[in-house]
Formats: sequence, structure tokens, C-alpha cells
Amino acid sequence: IEDRTLAVGIVGCGEQMSDNLLPNITRLDGVRTACLCDIELDRAERLAKTCGTDRTYEDLRAMVEKEDLDIVVAASSPQVHEAVARVCLERDVNVFLEKPPARDRRTLERLIDLEHESEAIVGTGLNFRHSERVRTLRELSRNTFESEPQYLRVDFSTDKPAETLWELDSHLRSLLLATGIHALDIADLFFGRPTDVVATAARRGNIYQIVILHLAYGKGRLCTIELSSIAPRFDLSIDLTSENNRCVRLSQLRTIDVQGTNPAFDCSNLSEKRWQSGWEPSPIGDGGASGYYAELSSFVTAVRTGAEPDPTLSDVRHYYDTIERVIEILEGGPDETVPECGSVVESVDHPR
Ligand code: NAD
Repeated sequence: IEDRTLAVGIVGCGEQMSDNLLPNITRLDGVRTACLCDIELDRAERLAKTCGTDRTYEDLRAMVEKEDLDIVVAASSPQVHEAVARVCLERDVNVFLEKPPARDRRTLERLIDLEHESEAIVGTGLNFRHSERVRTLRELSRNTFESEPQYLRVDFSTDKPAETLWELDSHLRSLLLATGIHALDIADLFFGRPTDVVATAARRGNIYQIVILHLAYGKGRLCTIELSSIAPRFDLSIDLTSENNRCVRLSQLRTIDVQGTNPAFDCSNLSEKRWQSGWEPSPIGDGGASGYYAELSSFVTAVRTGAEPDPTLSDVRHYYDTIERVIEILEGGPDETVPECGSVVESVDHPR
């Protein structure tokens, strides 16, 4: 698409759209928010006032059929994301879906097929790979490690989901789709597709409080992902360790420490041989920690230039393989038998 202003339609005017996506869409160059849709029309009307349009809809199909849109951005349930993708791809309208783009592996596969038949592209809202902090971590790890990093640890903690989401049948699936998918995306960024997974979890009733995944990769690399739904606040921390005793660590999506042994020092002197240096974001930075602006900007560039979105729906396929495998490990497969490569401990009250 040439340099003309692109018309964007919005689907789902809840918290994520109003707090995070729409403010960043408004900042994008060469893009205008043309219309908004929510089954709760008053939500669409309220947000419409903030972006200078009065075109609102209750029905997403009506919006996509009536408006001449270049891009639809959707933030709702995975079921709504699937419906939006269908309607848009049939009409060759590009679509950006918040995560999770689909509720399970089979549905994702159908969306990938539809995308292949369409002229349009599908982007997925996995914003942390676009975060300036995660990008700096990648750069520092490339500069620091002489060999490839060997071990990756991703700690993704929130107080969500407190309950089973999106009319799914399992809290575990909700947790893996709501936050686990972000951690799997980070793991993909550094190590690509895993060859094997084992999982353990602590559960109270049907709520999964902690889920720990161990992912194995080629060339002897390992990744541990720790997901918590009972943390007091959001935390994303990432550690990378290399064979030559070097470690790069992003703490709480903010500061980065590089640690190791300095070949410039004489290693016989123990007090001097270890070194550490740090990176901190500017206190007056433009809020690039979340990656929302960068992910949307990158999608708009992909639409304009015909480049692939980052990530593509096909890139996300192996995240769903892992999710389905973890559910099978912890909850049993279709034949209800639980493979012996994981365990669930029941969480109980611990008197002081
Ligand atoms: P929400 O419930 O606040 O908003 C969803 C909105 O969709 C509601 O306003 C609802 O009325 C509307 N809706 C439901 N069915 C619809 C339909 N058929 N057509 C049009 N609108 C419809 O939820 P939220 O917290 O805003 O989350 C939305 C999405 O954003 C979820 O997929 C969630 O995973 C994602 N999210 C992503 C991040 C992130 O860091 N990337 C953070 C939070 C939420």
C-alpha cells in the first residue's frame, strides 16, 4: 500500500484496547481510527470520542462489510479473535489480533489456512518481543556471549487469571493462553522451537497457581519457564547463561545486569576476576517497556511494505504445540491418561 493514510477499525473496546492499544494506535503516523465496534455499544461510543470519530457498531461483520478498512485491530476473547480473522480475511482486510489469536491448536491451523487463501496478513499481539528492554537484552547477550547462550530462564508472574477465562474448560489452558504464551514467545525469540517439554504445577481446586515448564532444544540448550497466577504484581524477568560463565539478566522488565569472568584480568586473583555491569532505561524514556507502540508500528510497516508480521501466525504454531502438550501432561490427553513426564501438587494451607 502506498503512502496514503490507513483506515483502522477497532473490535473490542475493553481494558486492553482503551488502556494500551488505542493510545498507541493514535500515536502511529499515517493511520486514522475510522470506526469502533463492541457488543456493548456504549464502550465503543465512549472510546470513539477519544479518537475523533462517531462511527460505532455492535456487530463486527456489519462494520467490516460497511467500512472501507485497511486494518482491523481486535482485543477481545480468542473466540472473537477467530471470528474477526475470518470476516477480515474473507475480504482481504489485514487484521491484528491481541493474544491469544485462537483458543487451541486446531483453530489456529484453520486461521493459518485462511490467511494463506487471503491477500491480507494477520499480526498477533505478542508485545514483549518488541519491548525496548527485551531488545536491549538481546543486543547485550549477543555482545557478551562468545558462544551461544546455553540456558534461558523466563519468570512471568501476575495475579491473573483468577478464574477460568473465555468460556474455556480449563484454568490451565486459560493461564497458558493468557500469560504462558508471552513466556513461550520470549523463549522462541532466543531459542526457537523446542524439541521436548516437561511440566510441573501447583494447583488449588481448579486454579493453577504455579506452572513450571522445562523446554529442551537442540545443541544442549534448556529453558525454564515459571508462570505464576498468584504473584502480588506483574513481573517479567529473563536470565541467559552461557557455557563460558557469563550471564545476562533482565530484572522486572527494567534493569539489565551483565555478569561474568573478565578475560582481561588475571584469573588467579579471585577478587578481581568477576565483573558486573548494568544497564538502566532512561527515566524520561517514552515508555517502550511494554512494546505496544513498537508492535503496532511494525505491523503497519508490514501492511505497507508487504513484509511478514513479527511474529506470523505460523511462527506461533509451536507455542500451541507446547500448550497442548503441557495440558496433556498435567491434565491428561483424550484417553484421560496422564503421561509420566510431569506432576501436579495440591496446594494446602500451611499453618505458621
Ligand atoms: P475486556 O473483557 O475488558 O474487553 C473485551 C471487550 O470485547 C469487551 O468490551 C466486550 O464487550 C467486547 N466483545 C465481546 N464480544 C464481542 C464481539 N462479538 N464483538 C465486539 N466486541 C466484543 O478484556 P481485556 O482485558 O481488554 O482483554 C482483551 C484481550 O486483550 C484479551 O485477548 C487479552 O488476552 C488481551 N490482553 C493482552 C495483554 C498484553 O499484554 N498483550 C494484556 C491484557 C489483555
